[in-house]
Amino acid sequence: MDVRLLHADRLIGPRALPPNHDSLAFCDGLILGSGPLAELREKYPGASVERLAGCTLGPAFCDHHLHLDEMLQWAAAVDLGGCVDAAGIRTALDLASKGEGEEKDWLTAFGLDLNRFEGWGASPMAVLDQAVAARPVAVFSQDLHSVFINQRAAESAGIKNCPDGLLREEKCLPIREALPAPEGRDLAEALARIAGDLHALGIVAVDDMGGAAIHLRLHALDTAESLPLKITTSLHEADLYDTRLSDFKTGRRRGRLQDGPLKLFADGSLGSRNAFMLLPYQGSEDRGQLNYTKRHLAGLIRSARARELSLAVHAIGDAAVREVIGHLGPGDRMEHAQHMHKEDVARLAATGAAACVNPSHIELDWRSCEHVLPEGGLGAYPLAWLADAGVPLLFASDAPVMPPGPLAQVRWAETRQTKNGEPKDGWFAEQRMGRMQALRAIWPRGASLSSGAPADLLALSADVSTLPANELEEVQVKGLWLEGERQV
Ligand SMILES: [Zn+2]
Repeated sequence: MDVRLLHADRLIGPRALPPNHDSLAFCDGLILGSGPLAELREKYPGASVERLAGCTLGPAFCDHHLHLDEMLQWAAAVDLGGCVDAAGIRTALDLASKGEGEEKDWLTAFGLDLNRFEGWGASPMAVLDQAVAARPVAVFSQDLHSVFINQRAAESAGIKNCPDGLLREEKCLPIREALPAPEGRDLAEALARIAGDLHALGIVAVDDMGGAAIHLRLHALDTAESLPLKITTSLHEADLYDTRLSDFKTGRRRGRLQDGPLKLFADGSLGSRNAFMLLPYQGSEDRGQLNYTKRHLAGLIRSARARELSLAVHAIGDAAVREVIGHLGPGDRMEHAQHMHKEDVARLAATGAAACVNPSHIELDWRSCEHVLPEGGLGAYPLAWLADAGVPLLFASDAPVMPPGPLAQVRWAETRQTKNGEPKDGWFAEQRMGRMQALRAIWPRGASLSSGAPADLLALSADVSTLPANELEEVQVKGLWLEGERQV
């Protein structure tokens, strides 16, 4: 038995450990137990010891909701992050189209923040055609719920009846499908790059919400069993009818891949003004809408239950949240849970479902919410309500919507402020979370340092359970182990 000991300054985990436990023993990718170094040495004579001076050792982190395919595409796309008007888009695309790329090659752009964008001035298609006519162009909104296309893109993706070039929600699907997606060795290499970035943030596990397209390509890799990340994949509605996926079942594992939930989209997003609200948006009659008829949603959920699939239901508006709660049970998740009334928090807690929330998205919303939402955004990002009601919380970046960074999520959840301290006292300060509550939400569900748990471990340069919130993002990863194999 090849036992190894890691000896740090201290251990932290979701459950409190005796203060003299400063070391962990593991073997064959599994934790054997924790204790004082001398005790573990005695118990496992001959075990190798690695000293992690100055480090705090705990479970490695998880990003509970992201989109690997879009992360891969975004890496090679035009970044419209700072763009606020149509002229800016034209300039950025014009510049990019002068680079390499043939006529059939897509030109994609990501990161257009519709909360700050001043408008197209003409139809998006007219603007994009003017910028680039020779190649298909797709511009994704920051929240990924809207895509703007030129004429060439419509032709390439077989889209008819979209004269203005604006697509939303499921109408974006033909564009997503038309964009080239890496597979085989290209996918393995791209994934290794993404994994390197995630490891540097302490992440070894991710929940991908992109549906079966990436699930199938990941399972087709001959390295599927030894990926540099633990990846839980998902199904989308259309995947339910794909016979290649008939054995997909929540919880089924193959190496580091695991089948996850059926991902449904109850509504849209705040940025695209199609989150489903109980009251109309300010200055408008519109309050968004549910993406499904109630009957269709109930039918989908029946099929999920029959196939032993758990649910992950996207719900952002307070009306969408209220509708979705009625369908959830233990093992299910609500994604975003962004705007809620207190009585609905209690109803969600009673279902036993988890809430996967995005504290770092406060950065995208805190300025605009009070001008957009009815009631000035009350019940926005209700993190403390959810935590105090006992709803299991999972933090997620929704990358590439926002960059991954578990400790940044903790800072946002705790301070509800930008790094410069805006707004003063934090945005809806009563919803600030405690440190341990927040840390539990960046560890994988069921994470533990007990015997039998996977040796997915992280050594950090500081004790993140006590460090001031504004120093969390400076903490360095000093070591990262995936099933006992060192990655960093
Ligand atoms: Zn998402």
